[in-house]
Amino acid sequence: MRDSDPGFGESFRLGWEEWLSLPGLGLPALKAKVDTGARTSALHAFDIEPFGPANAPHVRFTVHPIPGRMDLAIPCSAEVIDRREVTSSNGETEFRYVIRSELAIGHRRWPIELTLTDRGSMAYRMLLGRQALAEDVVIVPGESFCQPLLSYDVYHSAQVATEAPARTLRIAVLSREGGSYSTRRLVEEGTNRGHVIEVIDTTRCYMAINALAPEIHYDGTRLPRFDAVIPRIGVSVTAYGAALIRQFESIGTFCVNSAEGILASRDKLHAHQILARHRIGMPATAFASSPKDTDNLIALAGGAPLVVKLLESTQGKGVVLAETKQAAQSVISAFRGLKANFLVQHFVKEAAGEDIRCLVIGSRVVAAMRRRAGSGEFRSNLHQGGTAEPVRITRTERDTAIRAARAFRLNLAGVDMLRSSEGPKVLEVNSSPGFEGIEGASHRNVAAALYDEIEKRVRPSPVRRRAKG
Ligand code: ADP
Repeated sequence: MRDSDPGFGESFRLGWEEWLSLPGLGLPALKAKVDTGARTSALHAFDIEPFGPANAPHVRFTVHPIPGRMDLAIPCSAEVIDRREVTSSNGETEFRYVIRSELAIGHRRWPIELTLTDRGSMAYRMLLGRQALAEDVVIVPGESFCQPLLSYDVYHSAQVATEAPARTLRIAVLSREGGSYSTRRLVEEGTNRGHVIEVIDTTRCYMAINALAPEIHYDGTRLPRFDAVIPRIGVSVTAYGAALIRQFESIGTFCVNSAEGILASRDKLHAHQILARHRIGMPATAFASSPKDTDNLIALAGGAPLVVKLLESTQGKGVVLAETKQAAQSVISAFRGLKANFLVQHFVKEAAGEDIRCLVIGSRVVAAMRRRAGSGEFRSNLHQGGTAEPVRITRTERDTAIRAARAFRLNLAGVDMLRSSEGPKVLEVNSSPGFEGIEGASHRNVAAALYDEIEKRVRPSPVRRRAKG
């Protein structure tokens, strides 16, 4: 649809160069050359890369709208409507992707077709060909900028992010469990939002560690650039998974959780030290490696009853309650005999077999549940027969959860805490929290909340102005 001219009978005049914008691509100001010698319009883009399913092909590309400012990169994606052979003014022929986008010049807006090319020699970021021009457009070859001037200033302001249009993202879920509830939800929710989600088996990736061009390969081919990576790294592959995420980070891909955060949260000792450093409440915890320290260790954790935890424990499997000092001594000496690493912790009795899981995304608690242990059990893990139910958390609990996730710099975290008489005590921060229990108990759409965060984080950011001179 085309707006009508305000002045009846007036023609729409264009000079040989004009300012225009492509709002659908998030390009609010571009300087274009009007070239009636060319049939189709062309956009100068970098890293042009097809993606998406064969029945809905898409193309991703980057535009540097300000000539000479390669530091400003606007990531774009669009549906491919055609692939066409185009001969440019220098006689070179190339196959180009064709996309459709809305063009805005002055007060007018209309859809046009654009071919994508990355010929570095183009002085203008865009070339406006005759196919894009209506009959009433009058080209005035001797004039520049007949239509209102725009400015590159928008790219220096927050506007470039706030007004960025929704675009199709290419997102990798790093998971070895394609069939798990969480992975299925991530694929389902992301696809519903129009994104392209690829599940990648962490252990099938291999890397070329190279300072100039870090690469990641998968099943014999080089992995493409992703807009975002959602790590779902299982405990058995933590080190390899972290190395892979580091590789994605060095390419500049947004990773929901960083390698550093995942590693720190997986190491129970390190995790407790981080929580303590950030003054986040947790049960009194002690650790030692010499067998001589047993009594002292028990005293440091506040005496019996106490909880002894194997460092490798997950799902509550290596967590033992020692009700008396003698029981504590025998559990500790048994673990020592097995050369197992463990920590000793004050037993928060008043938690009464319940704990709270808060799911933090970005800087918000998006869902929470209370887990209750089965009868005769103090561990509330669902794997130990615990049950999950919705819960209203207090402001202190919410703040504690957010602070704990932030201490590990995790954008997605499951924070487990006990309700003690002294307020919330954090037990663990999980960097690959499952969605099934918490979506079921809280009736919140956790996967959707994660995509809200990802979409926000991959928006372009403004660049600083450069001093003139
Ligand atoms: P894991 O990582 O194996 O799940 P946790 O430290 O989360 O181990 O402990 C498992 C469960 O045991 C918790 O969900 C909680 O219900 C209970 N628990 C753990 N530590 C304590 C404690 N210090 N006081 C009371 N209950 C505890």
